[in-house]
Amino acid sequence: MTKVYNFSAGPSMLPAAVLKQAQAEMLDWKGSGMSVMEMSHRGAEFMSIAKALHEDLRELMAIPDNYKILFLQGGATGQFSFIPANILAGKDKACYINTGAWSEKAIKSAKAYCNVIVSASGEANNFTSIPERSTWNIDDQAAYLHYTPNETIHGVEFQDIPDVGDLPLVADISSNILSRSIDVSKFGIIYAGTQKNMGPAGAAVVIVRDDLIGKAQKGLPDIFNYEKQANQESMLNTPASYTWYLVGLVLQWLKAQGGIAAIEQINQRKAAKLYAAIDQSGLYSNPVAVADRSRMNVPFILADNELDKAFLATAKEQGFLSLKGHRSVGGMRASIYNAMPESGIDALIQFMAEFERTH
Ligand SMILES: *Cc1c(COP(=O)(O)O)cnc(C)c1O
Repeated sequence: MTKVYNFSAGPSMLPAAVLKQAQAEMLDWKGSGMSVMEMSHRGAEFMSIAKALHEDLRELMAIPDNYKILFLQGGATGQFSFIPANILAGKDKACYINTGAWSEKAIKSAKAYCNVIVSASGEANNFTSIPERSTWNIDDQAAYLHYTPNETIHGVEFQDIPDVGDLPLVADISSNILSRSIDVSKFGIIYAGTQKNMGPAGAAVVIVRDDLIGKAQKGLPDIFNYEKQANQESMLNTPASYTWYLVGLVLQWLKAQGGIAAIEQINQRKAAKLYAAIDQSGLYSNPVAVADRSRMNVPFILADNELDKAFLATAKEQGFLSLKGHRSVGGMRASIYNAMPESGIDALIQFMAEFERTH
């Protein structure tokens, strides 16, 4: 197989060790005679996989006992609607911070359920920085405040958890879950699609504080109802069982790496190197305010966009895949999740320097 580095934003690369283990267990999971894909989700074998998955996530993220872990279908996008449907609890408004494309989508979905107060927006400067906390307009009668700690497309990331008083804080951590330590107890809900930093596509993890469970609006289908799913350990119907299994393998891999604190240091180093290379170059630049730069998604543009095609073609030829920026912002983007080894960053930096030298 040719050696490639895959910088896709999601679905994205998985640790090679995880894929090899899945391959080894593909036809016969631990002597069961079955592939995980073929197992009853109610059988003892799969129940043990599900149990380990939940325990490992709770341990890795230090999730307190008063939070439930749900694995639901419908992706992170589903949660844009299921969150207001589950936790408005009769209130008619919610606050949203708009820091980019994913915030905007969350806002658009929430508008079907309540009045959305956009407490702050980075739109005026093209989402290249996070609005100062002191400028946020928070309504303390709102049901919750939603924000996007890492904007996957615009490459802006909160470095701290904002203090929003008593409002339940709701966060879409799809693209930076497991990449850095976070204090879960500061949140009402955190959620993420699995396909960026946790495994393959097919599920969203929703970590929800107990007091926000049991308030769903009437008519919400049971499979989107946090209380009903929590009561059934996310198995009200057939779960995305193979996705659960692979996420479980990724969590075991992460534990073997030393957990989140260890991977966070590596992530910090990887991002710092890549930004330094971009900042030093005469060809590449990153538009995001230095303090708000994402460690996971690094967008960059070429000084001459006539070179974009040649850059992408040469990169692909040399095994650097999926560097094209999102269609809404153009340019390039390197997504450098946990599974991207530091050697991949070193190789990319070398490639970029060589491309600059020859163009
Ligand atoms: C990818 C992404 C989503 C969408 O996830 P789906 O699982 O495809 O619905 C939502 N929010 C953020 C921040 C993302 O990066």
